[in-house]
Formats: sequence, structure tokens, C-alpha cells
Amino acid sequence: AKSKGRNRYVFFDQEMNQETNEHLEIEKSLRKALDKNEFVIFYQPQINLQSEKIVGFEALIRWNHPTRGLTAPGYFINIAEESELIIEIGNWVIKEVMRQIKVWYDMGLDPGKTAINIAGKQLEEAGLVAFMIQSLRESGCKPEWIEMEIVERFIMKDTTKSIALLKRFRELGVDISIDDFGTGHSSLAYLKQLPITKLKIDQSFVQNLEESGEDRAIARTIIELGRGLGLKVLAEGVETQGQKEFIYSSGCELMQGYLFSKPIAAADAELLLKNQMHM
Ligand code: C2E
Ligand code: CA
Ligand code: CA
Ligand code: CA
Repeated sequence: AKSKGRNRYVFFDQEMNQETNEHLEIEKSLRKALDKNEFVIFYQPQINLQSEKIVGFEALIRWNHPTRGLTAPGYFINIAEESELIIEIGNWVIKEVMRQIKVWYDMGLDPGKTAINIAGKQLEEAGLVAFMIQSLRESGCKPEWIEMEIVERFIMKDTTKSIALLKRFRELGVDISIDDFGTGHSSLAYLKQLPITKLKIDQSFVQNLEESGEDRAIARTIIELGRGLGLKVLAEGVETQGQKEFIYSSGCELMQGYLFSKPIAAADAELLLKNQMHM
């Protein structure tokens, strides 16, 4: 039994090694991808159901991989976030989004607010506020065109620090949205002190709304909570008519999900905005 146990241990070790090697490979090619400009931003519309208009987008990174083709962040974003690479990738995302939406506003289009996902490591980096200020100035992008999406887990890690940091972004005029809300053990006492502007109901609660009374209760409660705190509330991952109707009738009019549109390339987002102007 002892040798069997040891064998199993060796096997496990090899598997771990393999995984580490793959991580290292991806990390190396991420570095090159930055230099070769292989990242692109896709935009997923956020809808106000009451006006039936696009009121914003979420910017979602894609990797135009030389052999894998257009690759979603599931393949690489955790590896980037574990390393320092996320700082550089994140900075690239901020600059690219600001460049794009300035172009849209200059064309007379109205994309509303575009949400940028910000990783924990980026927020821990001392230079982020200065980088935002500089990028806003250089791009000519207005702060009210931008929203930062931060996952609940990170904000609640050190609430005192988060409050101070988020205040600085709000002072610039940038909105703050809590991403994946409901999954990260928010303290309600801190929630009311956080200088945030929006809660995003995590898609895991939206997914089973039609089957699960528990999830309906959670979604309804988040909507009530957000309204009570004077925050916007957006439901993400809306895929069905039933989910849409439940959310809307519960008092939440902001939605994002495949029912309305998948994340799309900038050129396609631009077409949507042009068509919307003529509606
Ligand atoms: P997230 O921030 O929670 O983004 C929502 C994810 O759900 C996106 O996946 C989006 O494409 C997907 N989604 C949207 N609507 C639906 C729907 O109706 N049904 C389903 N099943 N999924 C839907 P994506 O684009 O693959 O991104 C995955 C995650 O990668 C994001 O989750 C976010 O955590 C991260 N990510 C994406 N872009 C960036 C970025 O620029 N920086 C950082 N740090 N993370 C990013
Ligand atoms: Ca997000
Ligand atoms: Ca989310
Ligand atoms: Ca998520």
C-alpha cells in the first residue's frame, strides 16, 4: 500500500509539473502577445429595457492567438493575473478602450458608459490612479464615459483601503461597479460606505432563475438592496425571455447577456450604435 501511495504521489507530481509548464508557456507567449499587439477588445452591449437602448458596453479582452485563433480570456487571464503581466495588459486595455470610445464620440455616436474590468493586482499597484489621469488626458476621453468593474471579492479583502482608493477614482469622475455581486461575502456595513455606483448581479444567480426559487429570492434581494442604497443594478448573463421578464418585473431595467448580444468586435458595436441613432 505504501509503494502504491508513493506512485500515486509521483503521478500527481508529474501532473502538477505539466500544468506548471503549460502556465509558463502561456506566460511567455503572453509577453510576446503584448509586443506583437495580439490583444483585441470586444464590446458587449448593456441594455436599458425601459428605453430599449444601449446605455453602455462591457469591454472584454480577446487574444488573437497565432495558432488558436480568437481566444476568450478563460485560457489566459488567470495566468496573467497571477503574474505582473496583468499590469501591462490592463494598462493596454485602459488605453485601447479610451481610444475607441473617443473615436465613437467624435463620430457623433453615443456609446454611453464603457465598463473596464480591473484586476486586483492593478488596484494594488500604486500607479493606477496616475495612469488613469494620464490616459484620460492623452486620449481626450471624458471620465464619465468610463466605469471600472471590480470583483466583489477584491473590494472586500481590505475594505478600508478599498474605500480610500475608490474615492480617488470617483473624484476623477469615473464610475465604479461591483462585479460578480453576491459571490464575494460583502459586508453590508461596508457596502454603504463604499463609493460605488453600480451592483452587477452575478450570472450564476441569473442562470437558474426560472427553476430556482432560491435564486429568485437572491436576485430580488440584490435589486432591492441596490435600490435602497441608491445604486444602479445590472443583471448579467441574461439568456432567456423568462429571465429577462423576471428581472424587469423585479425592478431592474439594466441587463447584459446573450439574449441581447454576445460580446462583439468594435466594428460591429459601431454598426449597432449607428443603427440605434436612426431608431
Ligand atoms: P466577467 O467580467 O464576469 O465577464 C462576463 C463574462 O460572461 C464574459 O466572458 C462574457 O462574454 C460572458 N457572458 C456575457 N453574457 C453572457 C450570457 O448571457 N451567458 C453566458 N454564459 N456568458 C455570458 P469572457 O469575455 O469570456 O470573460 C471572462 C472573464 O475574463 C470576465 O468575466 C473577466 O473576469 C475576465 N476579463 C475579461 N476581460 C478582461 C480584462 O480586460 N481585464 C481583466 N482583468 N479581466 C478580464
Ligand atoms: Ca466584468
Ligand atoms: Ca461578472
Ligand atoms: Ca466573473
